[in-house]
Amino acid sequence: MATNRRPFVADRANDLVEQFGSPLYVFDEARLRENYRSLRAALDDHYPDSRIHYAVKANYNLGVLSVLRDAGAAAEAFASCERTAALDAGFDPADVLLTGQNRTRESVEAALNAGVDRLLVDNETELETVRAAAAATDTRPGVLVRGNPAMELPTHPDIATATRESKFGLDIESGRALTVARRAAAAEAVRLDGVQLHVGSQITAAEPYAVAARAMVEFAAAIRDETGVEIDVLDMGGGFPVAYDDAVPATGDVLETLGDAIRGACDAHDLPEPRLLVEPGRRLVAEAGALLATVGVVKDTPHADFAILDAGSNLVGHWPYPIHAARGGPANRRYHVAGPLCYSGDVLAEDVELPELSRGDVVVVDRVGAYALSGASNTNATPRPAAVLLDGYGDPHVVRERETCADLTRHDVVPGHLSE
Ligand code: PLP
Repeated sequence: MATNRRPFVADRANDLVEQFGSPLYVFDEARLRENYRSLRAALDDHYPDSRIHYAVKANYNLGVLSVLRDAGAAAEAFASCERTAALDAGFDPADVLLTGQNRTRESVEAALNAGVDRLLVDNETELETVRAAAAATDTRPGVLVRGNPAMELPTHPDIATATRESKFGLDIESGRALTVARRAAAAEAVRLDGVQLHVGSQITAAEPYAVAARAMVEFAAAIRDETGVEIDVLDMGGGFPVAYDDAVPATGDVLETLGDAIRGACDAHDLPEPRLLVEPGRRLVAEAGALLATVGVVKDTPHADFAILDAGSNLVGHWPYPIHAARGGPANRRYHVAGPLCYSGDVLAEDVELPELSRGDVVVVDRVGAYALSGASNTNATPRPAAVLLDGYGDPHVVRERETCADLTRHDVVPGHLSE
């Protein structure tokens, strides 16, 4: 995958900032649809009996969710309000897979009452919570047991989840995962539907998916041998990578490796091939989003030339996003591109080659569609930007209004003895 492609919004950046202000998130409906379509096509090629559950956490803007729902995606909701966002965006409750790690019984009951029918359990306490909630709501949801095969992974340790050190999943090797599966199989209030794992995020090689798939099929075989239950669903989570500054394996290659591994392992363990679920977040939305920002100050220091924007690193996270200038011209200058916040680490990228910049120039921070808006903070009491969605004709629609200073203190309360 090429990494130096011009951003989808490059030619429109100045006009959009003029119309909607700066900074501004821009999402591209055509690219969201294409991301879904190409992933679906790769699954059709390599494992047709499958379903894409978009990981809502990556970007839960209702406009973005609505596009993916309309394109055909189901949803994966880790937290209660991800579930309500998915339902508000019109996802069918039966298409919402509830994951999570530490849910209250009330939130599980609310999900079951709303029609959610399949949940993940990450630990024994969660299984008890789901059982109690199912009994209280007179439902019998499907349960997936989250396994952890203690892998070595090619990604940042903070986002590697199927490792021995991780807080996620139930260790397979020690038998903890099988114990919970046995309890789920014996519980009247739930159906044991399958097994799940999420390898981690931004997994830049195909092989970890094969290793994980073999471990999970072996786990499914152990469940069958122990309980007699032949599981229907294998959920391999998300993690499909996006090219920020480097090429990454094509999704088709990753899915080919994954599909072959599942079929091979099922064969070896004499298991029927399960339905495959995947939970991609980044792969569907990252390249469909950009942040437009405006240069306010260009400052030369003995160390570097800084281009200081009106958008800080609190709005994008810490990936090596490609940064472009909206103005044309040869990229013959190097800048540290920084935000306006009060700490030195507020630098979006160092040594970026750009045309000569001056106050008022618009820059495009590209591929920020995942985990940027959904992780943005109000550091330095900065209101978060507006967002627009470009529809299939390129027409902009506001999908999130710009916050105001009043929004930042809306939930604060001054005690009576201090108010005038
Ligand atoms: N599924 C689960 C359970 C996750 O925790 C995550 C990310 O943290 C995802 C899916 C999505 O990961 P990605 O955006 O890398 O595809």
